[in-house]
Amino acid sequence: MAPRRGIAPEALGPTITVGEILVEIMATTVGEGFLGPQPLVGPFASGAPAIFIDQVARTGGAAGIVAAVGDDDFGRLNVTRLARDGVDVSAISVIPGKPTGSAFVRYRADGSRDFVFNLVHSAAGDTAMTAEAEALIARAGHVHVMGSAFGIAGIGEILLAAVSSVKARGGSVSFDPNIRKELAGGETRKRIDEMLAVADLLLPSGEELFVASGKTDEAEAVEALLALGISEVVLKRGAQGSSHFSREAGRIDAPAYKVDEIDPTGAGDCFGATYLTCRRLGHRPDQALAYANAAGARNVTRQGPMEGVSTLAELDAFIAADADRKILA
Ligand code: ATP
Ligand code: MG
Repeated sequence: MAPRRGIAPEALGPTITVGEILVEIMATTVGEGFLGPQPLVGPFASGAPAIFIDQVARTGGAAGIVAAVGDDDFGRLNVTRLARDGVDVSAISVIPGKPTGSAFVRYRADGSRDFVFNLVHSAAGDTAMTAEAEALIARAGHVHVMGSAFGIAGIGEILLAAVSSVKARGGSVSFDPNIRKELAGGETRKRIDEMLAVADLLLPSGEELFVASGKTDEAEAVEALLALGISEVVLKRGAQGSSHFSREAGRIDAPAYKVDEIDPTGAGDCFGATYLTCRRLGHRPDQALAYANAAGARNVTRQGPMEGVSTLAELDAFIAADADRKILA
């Protein structure tokens, strides 16, 4: 595998990812779970890798995804949506006899969520290395790895193959650990370490920084990760904004926009995709961070995980509209 050289420019080929596509159906009331009939809204296009790749395309980057859906409306809704936004959908397989993945989600009063998932046994569980997937991977300049995707049969192996192939041709890798501390033992720890050894851009949020680095202090954690050879660590801080860390630019902080949070799902994916794509398109780290920060904030103002994706023009307008509003320190 080629040595790390930082985030590869757009000219090297599209950004790709491998992972789950699903629909999300949301309770319209706050409360505990699904033990009785209740009002729901959806289906919304979803799946962290799908949100990510849709935002890459909206930002203006070439984008493709390896995934699997069923021969049903939930699958068609997603594929149509991704294609409309400019994602290469040629490597999305349609699996006969399996439904597209789905998630019912309801927020509790404390902001936590109850889920009913159909994912592992959905079409997503039949994601495989098809000829179309091989062709997409062979052209790719960057691969984004979503930690959660390793939890679905078949996807981890394809991700690892994509990472080897893309690295071998001088491409780069981003990694969103997307993993809770309690789940970071054994096989998962091995996967995290493998990804840290190849990632050029790390996109942790909250405690993931400490899980990844094994440190408990933020500055020490960042230093340990940069020492591994990761070029850029970009930390997502939710309603507290975000920070960039690299040897070249040091630390750059972006304070959060003050917005009405309607639905936080997908903010991290929109943020990461915008940051990565801006960097691939040649924006400086501070510019990429500013756009990413706006993309995350704008996403949480819309209901539905993929409904708040943004073009750079929409982000320019969002940033301009906010300039005279009060920004949280
Ligand atoms: P996800 O729930 O999608 O996994 P995450 O934990 O990976 O999210 P967050 O830190 O929640 O990522 O959000 C990513 C970025 O989006 C933040 O760093 C911030 O820039 C922006 N953001 C998220 N929530 C808010 C908010 N309530 N107000 C303003 N900006 C926000
Ligand atoms: Mg996250």
